[in-house]
Amino acid sequence: MKVYFDNASTTQVHPKVLEAMLPYLQDNFGNASSIHSHGRKARVAIEEARELIADFIGAIPSEIYFTSGGTEAINFIINGIAKTNFSETGKNQLLTTRIEHKAVLDTHFDLSENGFSSKFIEVNDNGTYKPSSLIEKISYDTSLVSIMHTNNELGTINKIEGISEHLSDDQYLFCDAVQAFGKIDIDVNKLKVHALSGSGHKIYGPKGIGFAFVKSGTPISPLLFGGSQERNRRGGTENIAAIVGLAEAVNIIEKKMGENYKEVSALKQYFIDGITQIFEDKIEINGGNNTSPYILSFTFKSEHFKNDGEALLMGLDINGIAASQGSACTSGTIKPSHVILGIGKDNDDANGTLRFSFNPKNTNEEIDYVLSVLEKIGKQNLRGWVKIYELNI
Ligand code: PLP
Repeated sequence: MKVYFDNASTTQVHPKVLEAMLPYLQDNFGNASSIHSHGRKARVAIEEARELIADFIGAIPSEIYFTSGGTEAINFIINGIAKTNFSETGKNQLLTTRIEHKAVLDTHFDLSENGFSSKFIEVNDNGTYKPSSLIEKISYDTSLVSIMHTNNELGTINKIEGISEHLSDDQYLFCDAVQAFGKIDIDVNKLKVHALSGSGHKIYGPKGIGFAFVKSGTPISPLLFGGSQERNRRGGTENIAAIVGLAEAVNIIEKKMGENYKEVSALKQYFIDGITQIFEDKIEINGGNNTSPYILSFTFKSEHFKNDGEALLMGLDINGIAASQGSACTSGTIKPSHVILGIGKDNDDANGTLRFSFNPKNTNEEIDYVLSVLEKIGKQNLRGWVKIYELNI
């Protein structure tokens, strides 16, 4: 049996998304900057997509900038606001948490090497930021606070509403909503954010397309120079087919968001019930009470299991199960995840942490199969996952 439980990594393009994209790779190939009819057709498609996405998150179209994905949106927002606000106000302090996506952390690191001061707001062991630490860290010099909506490894949901009350008029709030966009209701007015990032390939759209929402009036400079596209903020000929694909993905998911939410909630609960029945308190479900139903993270406690992350993933893979670890795979070696370490777990627990992420088409039968594999592996290897790839399940 082959099962895909890695939907937080990426999803398969929806057939209707592909269908919507194809004309813009074939007959409607125009460059949206051209004056002639080919160009005008492309321009109309882009502006319709912008309107749809703006409407979906409570923004106005001119506040949406198309980017090559979530990572670029994050780089654009953090660099653009930090640099412009610094030149306008002299504020140079950037606040975030240790458990953000690497796109946020590495951008912060780069800016901190170039004169900015980057500080971490503390997090709880369930993966939410500590409001007391946020308030304590905000100072006169604070320029930008970056806190993610839904954590991609734990599924934990942060309370974004209310943060802006602690900021003055020249201090800005950015929320990375890549794992929430299209899954959980996002309204930029309710969240009171100045900037927000989203991505297409997590919601059955194509890879390499995303967007930055930047509230009008927010100081921001371009990341890419070279053309007047995206209101001079993102040079480069637009990826029209991908933009149309992203819009179609939103169009499809918008109508089914509530239904999808219910379905994945049931799947997640079924998984949790099953896994706790098998392993009882030898495992820990991560993320606390307020998590996205799309993501389940749990840890085989190292006091009971001799965790070997690579062997664990290989064992799942040879049994046809696509899941992921709370780990980043760099040059073939699995490093313990900065998120799992960031919530206070040690290397052994990080190595025994797994993420299963759902889509509404997953089934209880698939979960039964995963549970049966995990049960066999666990029972035979209670004190060592290391041999699981030798098992012929
Ligand atoms: N932010 C979060 C929370 C993510 O989960 C991801 C992707 O995994 C990104 C940002 C990056 O998005 P993209 O893959 O579109 O660059």
